[in-house]
Amino acid sequence: MSQKPSFPPRSSAEAFGLGLRQKCPRCGEGSLYKSFLKVRPRCESCDFDFSRQDSGDGPAPFLIFGIGGVVLFLALVVELAAQPPYWVHFSIWLPLVLLLFWLIAPRAKAVFIAMQYHNKSSDSGSAKYK
Ligand SMILES: [Zn+2]
Repeated sequence: MSQKPSFPPRSSAEAFGLGLRQKCPRCGEGSLYKSFLKVRPRCESCDFDFSRQDSGDGPAPFLIFGIGGVVLFLALVVELAAQPPYWVHFSIWLPLVLLLFWLIAPRAKAVFIAMQYHNKSSDSGSAKYK
C-alpha cells in the first residue's frame, strides 16, 4: 500500500512566493512550466497532477491594467516633457510592453495557480491532498 506524502500547509505569502518563483504549489520544488506559459502535466518532484491547474483568464486583467497603466503613465510623461514624434513612442513603448509581458506573465499565471491551490479551489485538485 502506497503512502501519500505529506506537505506542510503554507501561509498565503509562502504560496505567493512559490508562484513568483514558478514552483510547484504542493511541494515547492518542481518547476511549474515546461515552456513559456505551458504548465507541465505533472510535478517532476512530487508527481502532483498539474492537469487540473488552470488559471484561465485570471491573470489577463491584472497584466492589461498593470502593464498598460505603467506604460500609459510613462508615455504621457514623455509626451508632456518632450513631445516626440509618434514613431518614437511606438519604438519605445511597444518593446517595453512586450518585455514586461514576457517578464510578468509567467509569474502572474503561476501566482494564480499557487493561490488556487493554497485556497483549495475546487478546480485545483488540492482538496484531495488535504
Ligand atoms: Zn511538486
